Amino acid sequence: MKPGYLNLHKSGELGSRSLRAMSLLSDCNVCPHACGVNRLLGTAGKCFSGELPIVASYSRHMGEEPVISGYNGAGNIFFGNCNLKCIYCQNHEISQDRKTDCCREIGFERLAEIMLELQSSGCHNIGLVSPSHFVPQILKSLDIAAGQGLELPLIWNSNGYDSLQSLHLLDGVIDIYLPDFKYGNDDYALAYSKAPCYFSIAGAAITEMHRQMKGDFIIGADGVLKRGMIVRHLVLPNDLAESENIFKFLAENIGTNIRISLMSQYYPVHNANREILLSRKITGREYEKAVELLHRYGLTQGWIQELESCDYYRPQFIANRDNPFGN
Ligand code: SF4
Repeated sequence: MKPGYLNLHKSGELGSRSLRAMSLLSDCNVCPHACGVNRLLGTAGKCFSGELPIVASYSRHMGEEPVISGYNGAGNIFFGNCNLKCIYCQNHEISQDRKTDCCREIGFERLAEIMLELQSSGCHNIGLVSPSHFVPQILKSLDIAAGQGLELPLIWNSNGYDSLQSLHLLDGVIDIYLPDFKYGNDDYALAYSKAPCYFSIAGAAITEMHRQMKGDFIIGADGVLKRGMIVRHLVLPNDLAESENIFKFLAENIGTNIRISLMSQYYPVHNANREILLSRKITGREYEKAVELLHRYGLTQGWIQELESCDYYRPQFIANRDNPFGN
């Protein structure tokens, strides 16, 4: 099956959407922070990003869920800066080091070239990692890349803090949504990620992503996901993610068919040690409780990252006992 953005490119709709999206930068409300700054003139908002995309790195990645990494890897593009400021961010060198990141700005053509390079190297898909503050730039580069032969599924791997306006611009463009659902409590989201109203904003964003996917979860003959949605949830120590609220929301508002990827790899890095409640890994009991809650709310499709296999660099996912490989 062909990615959705190819038809939008041929009809000219992708080009029109990228123009509409670029116009948002002059009074920026690309993400829910709605800073109102003019990024076209270089004024920075909370994401410290201007008109051009910032790419910290790109590579083939084998550590995603099995249906994403497949046998050849996901073609991940890691965008610099971030619209959240998680004090425990494992990628803080690229997400919160604005001085370094401003030197990593690239042109739209170069971003298109990177997508094509990843395709040439045999990756199964293009994974846009931390893309929420670069929606216009991604649409513009994708239009260029589609015209030059890009035909891999596009993955939106965001922190869930996406605006509905931006998601509407992505409707039909994104083939696979892979959002985090980080907090079921706004106070913790504000304290640890500087994300006001995270729970309701991410809940609305994930509901919109699910609407766009229409419940599809399509795996190709090669065993790799072509279209669908997986929601990631990282268990935090001392229940600071309030996991139950998230599972309850998903079960009641999205349905129990949603695929979940439960992550247990939390490790106190960056500034996490400044907060006593975040200064340790999760315990076996906390992990077991999260797994029990998944089952209590009927969320039995997806993947559970085994606690014993926690490896900061290469997380290993296993298929859920009830649903091997989630298909
Ligand atoms: S994308 Fe950046 S500048 Fe725009 S609203 Fe979000 S944080 Fe603010």
